[in-house]
Amino acid sequence: MSQPASNAELQSVLDRAADGGRITAEEALDLYRSAPLHALGVAADTVRRRRYAGTEHIATYLIERNINYTNACVTACKFCAFYAAPKSDKVWVRDLEEILRRCAETVELGGTQIMFQGGHHPDFGVEYYEEHFSAIKKAYPQLVIHSLGASEVEHMSRISGVSAEEAIRRIHNAGLDSFAGAGAELLPARARNAIAPLKESGERWLEIMEIAHGLGVESTSTMLMGTGETNAERIEHLRMIRDVQDRTGGFRAFIPYTYQPENNHLKGRTQATLFEYLRMIAIARLFLDNVAHIQGSWLTTGKEAGQLSLHYGADDLGSVMLEENVVSSAGARHRSNRMELIELIRAAGRVPAQRATTYEHLAVHEDPAEDPVDDRVVSHLASTAIEGGTAHPELRLVEARR
Ligand code: SF4
Repeated sequence: MSQPASNAELQSVLDRAADGGRITAEEALDLYRSAPLHALGVAADTVRRRRYAGTEHIATYLIERNINYTNACVTACKFCAFYAAPKSDKVWVRDLEEILRRCAETVELGGTQIMFQGGHHPDFGVEYYEEHFSAIKKAYPQLVIHSLGASEVEHMSRISGVSAEEAIRRIHNAGLDSFAGAGAELLPARARNAIAPLKESGERWLEIMEIAHGLGVESTSTMLMGTGETNAERIEHLRMIRDVQDRTGGFRAFIPYTYQPENNHLKGRTQATLFEYLRMIAIARLFLDNVAHIQGSWLTTGKEAGQLSLHYGADDLGSVMLEENVVSSAGARHRSNRMELIELIRAAGRVPAQRATTYEHLAVHEDPAEDPVDDRVVSHLASTAIEGGTAHPELRLVEARR
């Protein structure tokens, strides 16, 4: 086992990263484990300021709606409080009419993006997504469909008997603009198998994202923290993303978020602390030198944590979600509205700006007197969250490992 890095060595790596130098996965792990939190934040903020020189005073947010089309899922992830086994009487499927009504409300409230998110329904192949995306685009061409991820592609291509490449081409042609990067969870094998044994491997998740990037369909990338993974596995997750990004440049953003412990089979297991979360935001900014945007997640960590993340390398504070059912089913209780999010960003010393999916600024709120005042633009929690959870009763708990 190697010796822990000295403070002088850690500072030297931090200085190099702050100057824009690339750090290795081993160095990132040393920093993540041992660098003083404040020094990490200072270095990450230096990198953010340089990357956004000229607009470094701005932090962005988005208005979107998360439309959950079904909770039926054959994949039974142990951390998930949202899904129901396909034959369960708790299964629901939203019909197209309801989905279009939600799109209409999104447009009315100034939302620009739809996240189409649901379980791996045993009957939903490529055709289901083609039909729904083309109907949404036909009715609301102004909405960006930023949805799904490699797991859904793997599932739908299996159901339809086509390659991942064909599935991506077809849903892109039907209206999908970009992938939300869902299902990344934890990419390293042990950590992934412990919480999502029926999901495709981390390598396959990345392979599908690489195919998508090659076809011109960009994505964001995510990480689920706090289900018992080790620090080394967290950094390995970053390394796997950085390696693909070196080849494709297709990941627009990295979004770590914390596991929520209610109503699922990991309940009561390890959770990432606020400090671990802030350290991850900072390390992501330092290590992922090829990913433009780092997003703070106030939905799972709280508004003050989201605000703090803006001082640890994040340049974006996610969205006002007009509807959310997945992480709120597992206990995320934070909610906000557009006016509050604007105030949070301003109180963190930044100028808030509403952004598009592709991060262009749609409205920069320089003058508080001209702030938007529509109090209907609120993050609504859990229109369908199911009390008691629906996770499979026979799933085993995993042992937390440090
Ligand atoms: S997280 Fe896993 S169990 Fe939950 S809906 Fe997605 S694939 Fe299904």
